[in-house]
Amino acid sequence: MQYRPEFCVWETTLACNLACRHCGSSAGKARAHELDIREALGLLAALADLGTREITFSGGELFVRPDWARLLARARELGLASLIVSNGLAVTRHVADELARQDVGSVSLSVDGDVRVHDWLRPLNSLVPSERSAPESSERASSHEQIHWAMQNLKLAGVTVSAITQVSKVNFADLPAIYDFLVAHGADAWQIQMTNPMGRSVRADGAPRVPVLEPEDLPSLYAFIRRVQDEGKIRCLAADCIGYYRYDEPLLRTVERPHDNFWQGCQAGLRVIGITSDGGVKGCLSMPDTYLEGNIRERPLSEIWNDENAFAYNRRFTVDSLTGGCSGCAFGKLCRAGCHSFAATAQNGDISRYDYCIRRLVPDTVAASK
Ligand code: SF4
Ligand code: SF4
Repeated sequence: MQYRPEFCVWETTLACNLACRHCGSSAGKARAHELDIREALGLLAALADLGTREITFSGGELFVRPDWARLLARARELGLASLIVSNGLAVTRHVADELARQDVGSVSLSVDGDVRVHDWLRPLNSLVPSERSAPESSERASSHEQIHWAMQNLKLAGVTVSAITQVSKVNFADLPAIYDFLVAHGADAWQIQMTNPMGRSVRADGAPRVPVLEPEDLPSLYAFIRRVQDEGKIRCLAADCIGYYRYDEPLLRTVERPHDNFWQGCQAGLRVIGITSDGGVKGCLSMPDTYLEGNIRERPLSEIWNDENAFAYNRRFTVDSLTGGCSGCAFGKLCRAGCHSFAATAQNGDISRYDYCIRRLVPDTVAASK
C-alpha cells in the first residue's frame, strides 16, 4: 500500500526564547547541527513531492530562526498550507503582517494557565533573546502578557488565532480561567491536550517536574471539554491523546464536520510525518527518539518514508498485539490503542494498550443515565 505524508509537523529549530518547565522536547538551545536554509528548502520540496498538503511549523520556536519568512514563502510557492505553533513572544505587528502576507492558515499560541501558572510553566529563556510582541516594560515582562499582545497583533493582521493548552496536574484547575481569557480575547479555536511525561517535565532522576494527568483525571477533563463545546463560545477540540469512541466521539475533534474527524487511530507513518530540526524522521514529532526512522542527511526522505520496514507499529499492526484494556476491544483494529506518543511516554514505552481511553473510563451508560 502506498502511504502519503499529508500532514507534516516540522521542528524547525530546537532553539526557543522560553524554557518551559513542561516542554516535551526540552527546547531552549538549538540542536548541534540543525538544517541550514538550503537543506530546509530541500526538505520542503521533498515533502511536496511526496504529497504533503499541510505543514505545521513548530519548534522550539519558529521565529527564533532568522530565515522563517523564507521557509513560509517557499511552502506557499510549493502549494503547501502552513500552520504555526508559537509561544507568541515574538509575534509583533510586523511579524503578524508578514504571516498574513504568506497566507498562514492559523497561528496556535500556547496558553497554559492564568498569569501566575502560565508564567511559572513558561519562564523566559535568558539564553535566547527575542523581540517582544509589544514594547517591553516591567508590566509586560511576563510570557502570559505577551500572549495578549500576540493575539491582538494577529487579529489586527487578519490571521486566524488558535490556542493550545497542555493540561497537567499543575494547571488542571486553571482551565476555566483559560477559557474565559480565550473567549474574552476572541480566540478562534482552542485545542486541549495532555502534557506528555517526557523532556523537561521529567527530572533526571525520573521524578516529575510537572506531574502529568493520570487515567482517573480523564473523566473530569472530558466533561470540561464537552461542556465548552456545548456552550459554543469557542471552537474547542480534543487532541489525539483524548478519546475514543464514546457516542459523542464525532463531536470531540470538530463541531462542523464530525464525519471527517471520527477517530481512525494514530496516523503516524500513515498520513502524518514528523521532522526534527537536524533532519530526523519520525511518524509523529511527539514520539520519543526511539521511533526515529532515519535522517534526510543520510537517505532521501522518499526512501525513508517508502521503506517497507518503516513505521511498523502502525503499518504492520495486527489486532492480536493489543494488550490490557484494549485487548478484545471492538474498535481495536481501527483504533490501534490510541495515541502512541502519549502511551510511549506515560506507559514506560508500552504502546500495545491505552490506559487513558475515555471509552473505558467514561462508559456511555453513565452519560446516558444523567
Ligand atoms: S479500548 Fe483501546 S483499542 Fe479500544 S477504543 Fe479504547 S484505546 Fe482504542
Ligand atoms: S502519536 Fe499521538 S499525536 Fe502523534 S499522530 Fe499518533 S495519535 Fe496523533
